[in-house]
Amino acid sequence: MSYLNRMNAVNAVAEAVCPAPMPPAPFSMDMYGEDVFGRDAMRTYLPKNVAEKLLDTIENGTPLDPAIAGDVAHAMKQWAIERGASSYTHWFLPLTGSTAEKHDSFLEFSQEQALMAFSGKNLIMGEPDASSFPSGGLRSTFEARGYTAWDPTSPAFIKRHSNGATLCIPTVFCAHTGEALDKKTPLLRSIQALSGATRRLMKCFGLPEEKVSVSLGIEQEYFLIDRHFYLQRPDLLQTGRSIFGAPPAKHQQLEDHYFGSIKMRVLNFMTEVEQELWKFGIPAKTRHNEVAPAQFELAPIFEEINLACDHNMLVMEVLRQVAERHGLVCLLHEKPFAGVNGSGKHNNWSVLYGKRNLLNPGSDPQDNAIFMTVLCAIIAAVDRHADLLRASVAGAGNDHRLGANEAPPAVISMYLGDQLSEIIDQVEKGEVKSSRKGGTMRIGVDTLPPLPRDATDRNRTSPFAFTGNKFEFRAPGSSQNCSSPNVMLNTIIAEAFDLFADKLEKLSPENFQSGLQKLLSSTIRKHRRIIFNGDGYTDAWLEEAARRGLGNAPTTMEALGALTRPENIALFEKYGVFGGRELASRHEVFVEDYIRRVTIESDIALEIADSMIAPAAAAEFGRTLSALTAAQASGIKSGVSALKKRADMLGKTLDELTLRSDALHKARNAGYKKILTALNELRETVDYLETIMPDESWPLPKYREMLFIY
Ligand code: ADP
Ligand code: MG
Repeated sequence: MSYLNRMNAVNAVAEAVCPAPMPPAPFSMDMYGEDVFGRDAMRTYLPKNVAEKLLDTIENGTPLDPAIAGDVAHAMKQWAIERGASSYTHWFLPLTGSTAEKHDSFLEFSQEQALMAFSGKNLIMGEPDASSFPSGGLRSTFEARGYTAWDPTSPAFIKRHSNGATLCIPTVFCAHTGEALDKKTPLLRSIQALSGATRRLMKCFGLPEEKVSVSLGIEQEYFLIDRHFYLQRPDLLQTGRSIFGAPPAKHQQLEDHYFGSIKMRVLNFMTEVEQELWKFGIPAKTRHNEVAPAQFELAPIFEEINLACDHNMLVMEVLRQVAERHGLVCLLHEKPFAGVNGSGKHNNWSVLYGKRNLLNPGSDPQDNAIFMTVLCAIIAAVDRHADLLRASVAGAGNDHRLGANEAPPAVISMYLGDQLSEIIDQVEKGEVKSSRKGGTMRIGVDTLPPLPRDATDRNRTSPFAFTGNKFEFRAPGSSQNCSSPNVMLNTIIAEAFDLFADKLEKLSPENFQSGLQKLLSSTIRKHRRIIFNGDGYTDAWLEEAARRGLGNAPTTMEALGALTRPENIALFEKYGVFGGRELASRHEVFVEDYIRRVTIESDIALEIADSMIAPAAAAEFGRTLSALTAAQASGIKSGVSALKKRADMLGKTLDELTLRSDALHKARNAGYKKILTALNELRETVDYLETIMPDESWPLPKYREMLFIY
């Protein structure tokens, strides 16, 4: 089959899998949550007492009564079948970072009679085996079974396809030893750790026991390009990023894409995405054009953290699938295009005690004392464990953002804004006796001045910013599961709350205010180095950060080291979030994932360079030489020197291309650092060639086409 025939086939496939999008159904609130077995479905399909028990588990964390599992399974099956489902799956989140599903039909036989069945046992527990998922050695023994177990706090849902549907049951995924093989289990454990520590700390302030909940709002960035371009880029197809590509003359310099009017085709796509998300009960709220051309953002309203993480995984899936229906491809890689912004997720986190958001600055001295205490604990936590936050967002894709030439940097620091920083300064000096105005603030005596929301942040370069009533962690990569960073946040903040409670519990009521003041002021003194309100994007900051002794792990391999430090292992063991073996297994899995990705990138780069670029360049060199020979033979003087120059330029570049391709071939088995260096050098040559080769014979779609024509 010739190249052209192959490309015709590829294009035919592109048309075949992209049926015209369905005309949108009108938005209505009836569609919201229609594909979720939520409160309404429970009330309709379950006996009243069973529905109440289940809701009590979901809303208040009461242990699930196993006796109701049969009823719940029956109701879910009924509900799902009425919506076209014939199969169910335990839906889980393996360490690959994606979602996993293995479908089973409801088909069973009873006395040779075929029927649709789904038992409590099927609901609660699954044994998908799933032995090909990475386990980092946790499953190397002979009993290497993997189990899934129902997470009733994340509602079941159906996923529809054009001629059926599947009932999906969110589950955790563990080894037979109970050791976690997934991303959800440690998140649930960390929520528990934080709940306990928060209750303990709030008790110090005399507050009655309340439910603790953690809120999370995940802003999702992504790129869209036309599917035809995508299918002609082996690098995008296989790695999600363009490994080659010369920067176009105009990209994002004019900042004319950010918040620009949204193209009709994209708006059609976004509308369908939102409809799909609303059906899943995912509160999609905000959409806009992002900074880079062809880059966009979607943000839902924040939700309970476990649900928010599950929902973000579904958001990514829906983005990809709906894009396909619109003849587009959604790129979730952290850096699909060099030279323009990459994509991240902003992880907006806050903790609630009952209805009180502990990150809301209050209006009376008691509220303020609580707010300042929580704030100082978080400052201490982030300073102590910046390495863990950094490790939680490590990955081959994110290396192109963090520590490379764009915000946020790989150095973890905290942004509080000028006003809050000033208050922190006052609290640090708080023992000086003076009145509040222009003087120092005393905890439990003074009130905070109101903090206008706008004053708290517009610094987009900080990886960890206080934004009015929440912290926004901006380092997670656009393709990552947000559970890892939140496991870290919950655990390190639980520890900080506990360390405070250790001190505060010892104070007598009459010494409480002065003791608290001392505690906060010494905490600030010790940990203030983590606070930085300036431009995190400059070299000056990197030098300053080094002087302050802040860690800087610009690459995945350096960052992942945090998972092997004894003090970190001890921390996770203390809070029951990871056992030592679990943490070691994760370290192994992430290191392996990184190396595999880099190797795949180098392999595809070599294939493109050797089988597409080099032949095209050689052909052009040949054409130029023939023209030169002809010109020389003709006796015409003009044009000869230009052709000579061009032949020389092409010849030299072709030599360089061969040299650099050979170098990458050699580096392939010489470790990831050598691979990356060789890959970057090869790219330089290929990208230069792109600028001198005839436009018509360049084999790859160009940046200006992919980023601007859609
Ligand atoms: P931006 O950061 O672009 O200014 P917002 O701050 O309004 O936008 O919201 C960003 C995300 O933060 C949204 O998903 C929003 O629902 C979420 N969010 C708002 N308040 C909280 C909170 N208290 N806890 C967690 N997330 C929140
Ligand atoms: Mg934001």
